[in-house]
Amino acid sequence: MPELPEVETLCRQLQTRIAGKKILSTKVCDHKLDGIGNVRGLRVLGVCRRGKTVEMRLEGGQCIIIHLRMSGRLFWRTGRCRESHTRWRITLEGGGIDLVDPRRFATVRVISDPPEALTNDLMGSFDFRKFLQSQAGRRVPVKTLLMDPKAIAGIGNIYACEILHASGISPLRPAAALDETEWKKIFRQARRILRRAIAGRGTSISDWRDLDGCPGENQKALKVYGREGEACVRCGGIIVRIRQSGRSTYCCPRCQKE
Ligand SMILES: [Zn+2]
Repeated sequence: MPELPEVETLCRQLQTRIAGKKILSTKVCDHKLDGIGNVRGLRVLGVCRRGKTVEMRLEGGQCIIIHLRMSGRLFWRTGRCRESHTRWRITLEGGGIDLVDPRRFATVRVISDPPEALTNDLMGSFDFRKFLQSQAGRRVPVKTLLMDPKAIAGIGNIYACEILHASGISPLRPAAALDETEWKKIFRQARRILRRAIAGRGTSISDWRDLDGCPGENQKALKVYGREGEACVRCGGIIVRIRQSGRSTYCCPRCQKE
């Protein structure tokens, strides 16, 4: 599932290709997406990320909001060919974009006003005091909290594992047991890891591809995710995989404090 760095990668690539370009046509190829508002003839002002969604801001105030969910991908297209599983396509001056999505969970909406900016995005605006007051005291495990979009925008399973390993904190610890210094450490590591992942155009463990269909490179930088049985780079302990809320968590029981 695309997380913050993957969506940020797409938005940056889209911004350079389609900002200032006029929309020539759109086509829905999957009836599940019927009813998307008409944006033909409008110009794209810019593309930005909001949490895990892609926002294309259009002249006149309208906004196309794309949520990729599990398997949605956006691919740049200059010719006519259409990949299988294409659900929606938009054609602009100079090229087009296909939403390819075998599992069909992605959504596309047109709204009349851009939504308000988030205040819980670690790579954008983040209100640390508000986080401490409204989220940090919850009894859920710290990893669950990191992955809750109401608490922090855009972090999924891979980056949550990496952030907690780099911070030396067990994914099982209750969020409420962490002090302010530990949260600061987590967010410092989170920003470093997310920045690096954006620079590497995301993590291609399975099927993530960027706008040009190229895999990202950040999988080479992962220290704990997918490394069950290997030696921990921080302490030499053995990395284990545990089940947590139905997902695989990778961690080092030796250097990640419970
Ligand atoms: Zn370790």
